[in-house]
Amino acid sequence: MKSSHIGIIGGGVVGLATALTLQAAGYKVTLIDKEAPGMGASFGNAGLFADYARLPFPRFSMMCKMPGMLLDKTSPLSMQGRYLPTLVPYGLEFFKACFPAKYRQGKAAMKSLQEHSRQADQQLLRITNAQDLIKSEGCLGLFSTEDGFAKAQGGDLKERREQGVNLEFLNAAQVRELEPDIADFHVGGVFYPDTRFTVSPVELSRRYALHFENNGGVILLDEVKAVLPNDDEVSVRLSNSVATYDQVVVCTGVASKEILTQLGVKMPMVSERGYHLTLDIGAKSLSRPVGWLDKSVFLTPMEDGIRLAGTAEFAFADAPLNPQRTEGMLEHAKVMLGNNPTIKSTWVGSRPSTPDTLPVIGPLEKFPRVKVAFGHGHLGLTFAAITGKLITECIQGEASSVDLKPFSASRFS
Ligand SMILES: Cc1cc2nc3c(=O)[nH]c(=O)nc-3n(C[C@H](O)[C@H](O)[C@H](O)COP(=O)(O)OP(=O)(O)OC[C@H]3O[C@@H](n4cnc5c(N)ncnc54)[C@H](O)[C@@H]3O)c2cc1C
Repeated sequence: MKSSHIGIIGGGVVGLATALTLQAAGYKVTLIDKEAPGMGASFGNAGLFADYARLPFPRFSMMCKMPGMLLDKTSPLSMQGRYLPTLVPYGLEFFKACFPAKYRQGKAAMKSLQEHSRQADQQLLRITNAQDLIKSEGCLGLFSTEDGFAKAQGGDLKERREQGVNLEFLNAAQVRELEPDIADFHVGGVFYPDTRFTVSPVELSRRYALHFENNGGVILLDEVKAVLPNDDEVSVRLSNSVATYDQVVVCTGVASKEILTQLGVKMPMVSERGYHLTLDIGAKSLSRPVGWLDKSVFLTPMEDGIRLAGTAEFAFADAPLNPQRTEGMLEHAKVMLGNNPTIKSTWVGSRPSTPDTLPVIGPLEKFPRVKVAFGHGHLGLTFAAITGKLITECIQGEASSVDLKPFSASRFS
C-alpha cells in the first residue's frame, strides 16, 4: 500500500468511483459522507451511461428559447423565483460559452471524456462484480413531429454522428418492433445501440461502497464543515472532530460550491433539479430507456418499476418537491405508454450543473493538495469512472489520459 492517505468528501457515484480507483492504485482511502453513500443525485438518475452525450448545452439558439420555456408551465424548464440571483453568474458564463469557438472547445472536451469512459466503467464494474446491474440494450429517443425529427437529423444528431456516436434513425414501425408497448405518439426517432443503462443506480452505489469497505476502505458518516489545506496536509473539520489527510478530493456534488467558496474559488455552479417517478405500468413492459425528446423525459425499466425521469428546475437544493412538475411528467408518460400508470414513488434531487456543461476535475491551483471532482450535471453516472481515473492519475503524478485544462476549477475566475 502507498503511504499517502487520501480523504474523499462525498459518496455519490463520483466520490465512490474515485475512492475505488485510488484504492485499486494502492492508496489508503477514507470516504466521508453525511448520508449513506449514493443517496444524493446519484440515487435518482435515469440510469443511462449516455455515450451519445457529446454536445454542450450552451448555444445562442438554446439561450433564445430559454425565456419562453421558463414562462411555459408545461415546458421541461422551470425556475424558483427566489433562485434568480444565484442564476445570474451562471447565466453570464452560459452566455460566454455560447460563442462558437467556446462551443467547439466544449464539444472536444466532452468527446475526450467519452473516449475513455466505457473502458473506465468496465474496470469498475468488473472489480465490484456489478455487471449484473447493467443492461446493453441501447436506448431510444423519440420525436412527436416530423419537423422536430427532421431538424434534429440535420442538427444535433448529425453533430453527434460526426463526433463518433453510433446511432440509427428509425421510423415509427421500426420503433414499434423494438418497443411494442410504446404508444404511437411519435413519428420515429434515434436509436443508440451502444448505450447501456443500470437497472438500479442506488444498488450500483451500494456495490461500489461494499467493495471499497471489503478491501480496507473506511466510510465515515459525518458532515464536513470545512476543508483546511496547508503545505503538508489537508485538515477536514467534521461535526465534532478534525481529520487530517495527505490529500483530499472534494466530490460533494451540488454542495461543492460552498466548499469552493470557502477556499476562495468562484464557482457559478447551480442546482438544476430533476425529478423521477417510479411507475407501475401494468401488463406493459420496456426493454430499454425510451426518451420523448421534445419533452425531455425518459422512461427507464428498473428493478423496482419504470422510472420516469426528467425536467430541469433551477431551484435551491432543499426546496420542496413541486407537484406541478410530477403531474406534468405523468401526463407525458400517459401519452408515451397509451395507458394510465400508477405512481409508486416520487423523488427530486439536484444535478450539480456548470454553465459550460463540463465537470470540474483536477487540483485547485492555490491548494494543490485539494483535488476536485464535481459539476457533472446531467452526466454524473456516465462520467464517474473516468473522473475517478483522472483524479487518480493526478494524485499519482502520472500523465493525464485526458487534457484537464477545460475542466479546471479556475476557468470561471
Ligand atoms: C432526474 C435525473 C436524471 C439523471 N439522469 C442521468 C443519467 O441518465 N445519466 C447520467 O450520467 N447522469 C444522470 N443524472 C446526473 C447524475 O445523477 C449526477 O450528475 C450525479 O449523480 C452526480 O453525482 P455526484 O457524486 O457528483 O453527486 P451526489 O450523488 O449528489 O453525491 C454528493 C454526495 O456528497 C455528500 N455531501 C454533500 N455535502 C457534504 C458535506 N458537507 N459533508 C459530507 N458529505 C457531503 C452528499 O450527501 C452526497 O452523497 C441525472 C440526474 C437527475 C437528477
